[in-house]
This record gives sequence, structure tokens and C-alpha cells, in this order.
Amino acid sequence: MCRHAAWLGEPRPLTWLIHEPEHGLFKQSYAPRHQRHGMINADGYGMGWYDSTRPEPVRYRRTVPIWSDANLPALAQVARSACLLAAVRSATAGMPIEESATAPFTDKGWLLSHNGRVSKDALRDLADDLAGRAESACDAAWVASAVFLRGRAGLGLGEALAEVVVHAGKKDPGARLNLLACDGASIAATVWGDTLFHHRSHDGVRVASEPLDDLPGWQPVPERSLLTVTPDRVAVQPL
Ligand code: GLN
Repeated sequence: MCRHAAWLGEPRPLTWLIHEPEHGLFKQSYAPRHQRHGMINADGYGMGWYDSTRPEPVRYRRTVPIWSDANLPALAQVARSACLLAAVRSATAGMPIEESATAPFTDKGWLLSHNGRVSKDALRDLADDLAGRAESACDAAWVASAVFLRGRAGLGLGEALAEVVVHAGKKDPGARLNLLACDGASIAATVWGDTLFHHRSHDGVRVASEPLDDLPGWQPVPERSLLTVTPDRVAVQPL
């Protein structure tokens, strides 16, 4: 199980999710507190953010453990945005360890991370030729491709996540499908088999697999639900 986190609010650097909080993704890569599957997230990491000079988000993905990238602290201090997403990865057995299998996946303005596992058979009828479309043979890349196709067909972020998760989750009862996605102006996330929390402050909302610090205010999101966050609203609905 990987750990992922996102921010929507006043512009912040990526350190806001990774290094600054006591239990940020940096710490969660080797000492997660709520992780049920896997113990360490050392199979790579990635981050994505938005910049007004580009129509699409910027991504940085590596296959090394987050703690071994000496270039990251400075980069994460200056890469800032009103919408951020980052993830540390623990590859599912049999899945490739390569940049193209590492979240965040992206298409157009969307960024997406998958925390969990799912059989590819449960995904096959979500689109023609997912194997050919997906960036990698990793299950998460297939999930991302199925979501992005729905985005291209006009579905909103939350609707696209919900459709893919409910379909695949019904076909594969053992699937874990916690997805976290953003589009620069909103965040959507599903809870299907693992933990998810959100934390609202006066200047924004953090969403994370597990709390990034011990400050009060972290709210668990119930199993089998969809969380959507916009600048003025946090909503949870059942899946
Ligand atoms: N199955 C995905 C992968 O292999 C996600 C793994 C996870 O959540 N640990 O990357």
C-alpha cells in the first residue's frame, strides 16, 4: 500500500505535504502509522503541482526511496501551488518498478494516485485495450487510464473516479481502490479498502491516506465513499 496526500488552498510548497509535517510523506515512507498492507514505501515516489506558466501540471517521479533523493528537499521547497499531490510507493507484488508505474499519473490537467491493488481482469471492460493505452503494466496505470478516458468523455473528476472504482470493486471483491486525484481547482478521492483522512484549516484542505501530523481536526472518511473538495466545500457521499 502506498501513501498519498494532496492540498487545495493557498499556494504552498510541496514540503507542506512531504517534509514539514511531523508525519509527512517523507516519514510515512519508512514509518507509516495506519498502513495495513506493506510496511515500507520505498519503491519510488512522485509529486505533481500546477504552475500558471503551463496549461498542464508539472510532475517529478523517481523509482528510488524518497529519503535517498538528495535533490528533493530544495525542489520541494520551491515547487509551490494552490493544488498539490504527492505519493510514496510500495509496489504490489508482480508490478514493475519504473517511473511510468509511479504516481502521479496524468492526463490533460488531471493528476491521479492509486493506493491499493486490483486485478486487471476487473478493469478490462472499462475500456478497449487498456494494456495498450496505459503508461505501464502496473495495475495503478490501468486504473489511471480508465479514469482519464472518462475525463476525456466529459465526466467530472469525482464521477470518473466513482465509476471506475465501483465497477472494478464489484468485479474484484479483493480489490483495494483508494484513488486520489486533482485538477488544479478541486480534489476527489475514493475510500475502498484503506484509510483516508481530510483536514480543513482556514486556508485550505489536506487529504491524506493517514494524518500528516497530530494536530486536531483530522477527520476519517468512511469506507466506500467519495470525498470531493473544492475551495468552498468538502463533501462525502457513499459509493
Ligand atoms: N498497486 C499499485 C502499485 O503497485 C499501488 C500499490 C500500493 O498502494 N501499495 O503501484
